[in-house]
Formats: sequence, C-alpha cells, structure tokens
Amino acid sequence: MLEILVATHNNNKRREIKSMLRKVESVKVMSLNDLVVQPPMIVEDGKTFRQNAVKKAVTISRFFEGLVLADDSGLEVDALDGKPGVRSARFARTKATDEENNAKLLKLLGTTPKQKRTARFVCHIAVAKDGHLIRSFEGDVKGQITFKPSGDKGFGYDPLFIPEGYEKTFAEMTPGYKNRISHRSAALKQLKKELKKIVKEVS
Ligand code: IMP
Repeated sequence: MLEILVATHNNNKRREIKSMLRKVESVKVMSLNDLVVQPPMIVEDGKTFRQNAVKKAVTISRFFEGLVLADDSGLEVDALDGKPGVRSARFARTKATDEENNAKLLKLLGTTPKQKRTARFVCHIAVAKDGHLIRSFEGDVKGQITFKPSGDKGFGYDPLFIPEGYEKTFAEMTPGYKNRISHRSAALKQLKKELKKIVKEVS
C-alpha cells in the first residue's frame, strides 16, 4: 500500500483533500499530524501558486518515503489585478485572521458594482517523491465577490464568494456540497484520474 502524505497544516484543506481521496484503492492517505518527526516549515515565497505548491511537495518529499501531495491556493479578484493571489492567507497582515482579510478585501472593492466583482479561487496541487516533482494540477472556480459576508461554514474568503451559477456563498453551502464544486475539487479530480498511473510509476 502506497502512503500519500497530504502536506498541509491547514485542517480544513486537509479534511477536504482526505475526504476526496478516501475511496481511492491501494493508497493510505496521511497528514503531517501522523508523522513523528515534522518536516521543516516551508517559506511560501513563490510568485505563483504552482511555484509554492511545487516547492512544498518537493522539499517535504525528501523527508517522507511515499508520495507527497502539497497544494497552494487562493483568491484572484479581477478588479484588484489578481490580488490577493499568493498572498491570500496574509492579505491584511502576517497571521491575519479570516475576518481581517475579508474586511480588507471588501474595503478595497468599496462600491465596485456587482458585474465588476468577478473573481476566481485557484488551487494548484503538486505531487512529488524522493525530492522530484512527479506531476502538478491546477483547478479553479469562477464567481463573484459579495458586498458583505454571508454564512458561517467553510473558511477563508468563503463568506464573500458566490460561485458562478449559484446564489449562495461557499460559506452558506454544506462542506460536502462545496467540495464538489471547489477549485480544490477541480484539481483533485485531475489528480484522481492520474493517480493509478502515478502509483504504478513510483511503486
Ligand atoms: P495557503 O494555505 O497558502 O494555500 O493559503 C490559502 C489561503 O487562500 C487561505 O488562507 C484562504 O485565505 C484562501 N483560500 C484558499 N482556498 C480557499 C477556500 O476554499 N475558501 C476560502 N478561502 C480559501
């Protein structure tokens, strides 16, 4: 059985990824919490989601025998030239709370009209083994930023994001429902399609 380490300290993301991979045969999905010795913290200093995801997966794969899966994700708002982008987690300040980041986003958008509040969530997933990148996948979900937060589920910018074709924010949807249409799910679907091939290649 091949072990796959989901290399994130973010419990919400880990849960989402683990739950989406739970039905894949012949792999055991683990998280950083299952490791006795923790790999080093990675500085996310890339200019793109891909650079950060690849750096995390490749570096951590030097400390773990199986496959390492790392992701980087965030929100790109068109009216803000793609911000917060790779700075999504620390948009308001280092170690900002979700509320602080959301407040900053709403303040910057101000009275920008509805049709110009378009945005997308992006998730890049990199898979590495023994210090080498094996594959990487990108998924996104397009939508719109609201004028005020709604809903108490999810995390991050979920209360401000209404996916295209829906009337509710991500934070008003059940986690199961959000998982089916999220950027992470879009990237994971591609990974799942390739996983058997990857497992064969590295076993
Ligand atoms: P990361 O942990 O470096 O990938 O940073 C991701 C940041 O982007 C999070 O802290 C959130 O602010 C935001 N983000 C990524 N995915 C989501 C999501 O599914 N919902 C809401 N916010 C998200």
